[in-house]
Amino acid sequence: MGKSVAESAIVLLGGTFDPVHNGHLRVAMELADALPEAQIRLLPCQQPVHKAATGADQHQRVAMLQLAITGEPQLLIDQQELQRQTPSYTVLTLEAMRQQVGNERSLCWVIGMDSLLSLPRWHRWQELLELANLIVVARPGWEWPSQGEVAEWLHGCAVHDMGAVPLAAHGQVLRLTMPTLDISATYIRNLIRLRRSARFLLPDAVWSYLQQQRLYGAEPM
Ligand code: ATP
Repeated sequence: MGKSVAESAIVLLGGTFDPVHNGHLRVAMELADALPEAQIRLLPCQQPVHKAATGADQHQRVAMLQLAITGEPQLLIDQQELQRQTPSYTVLTLEAMRQQVGNERSLCWVIGMDSLLSLPRWHRWQELLELANLIVVARPGWEWPSQGEVAEWLHGCAVHDMGAVPLAAHGQVLRLTMPTLDISATYIRNLIRLRRSARFLLPDAVWSYLQQQRLYGAEPM
């Protein structure tokens, strides 16, 4: 018998990963546990030029991701947005994925609560559910929207807790419940600029790498 929709799901966790940290990685592991047959793909986006000047370049961001996922076969890096010359619009990435995998396979786009609230600024955001499911992850300091454009939009969507219903190919909004970690890449970059340690907020291998590369103003080891 072929795999079910849920088993063969492709789960995309998009981000700048500048740098990847344990907040991202715990989300990826919780998803891997919840969907043991799914591919969990960390998908680095193009960095706006003005940001890349102060942060890591795309090769360094990918190198840090590679170090971070070593030994976790269910976690993969998907470089498609880096390989394209166009801006990293999620809707375009999902359209390209649909072309590749067809309409039957479950595609899931993972989004932190902070990003969910900024959805109306995303290109063609209301079409996202025609292409994929959205998996929403709580983030400290951010509440599920109760009013405004996103709240109204969610009202018309099928919203479920993850695991409560079988995974569809697209069209669902799923809430992933997990212990939240109050870690952001901004906080890590700020610590480093202040010459403070960021250890235990990200994998040791990534911490060593960014010091070697003198990223974000880090001192070499
Ligand atoms: P920055 O501080 O530079 O904005 P970030 O830490 O928010 O970066 P991104 O790479 O921009 O990290 O985030 C990618 C995705 O991961 C987003 O959907 C974001 O909401 C989510 N995310 C990031 N950190 C966490 C966390 N600690 N817990 C849950 N989700 C997170």
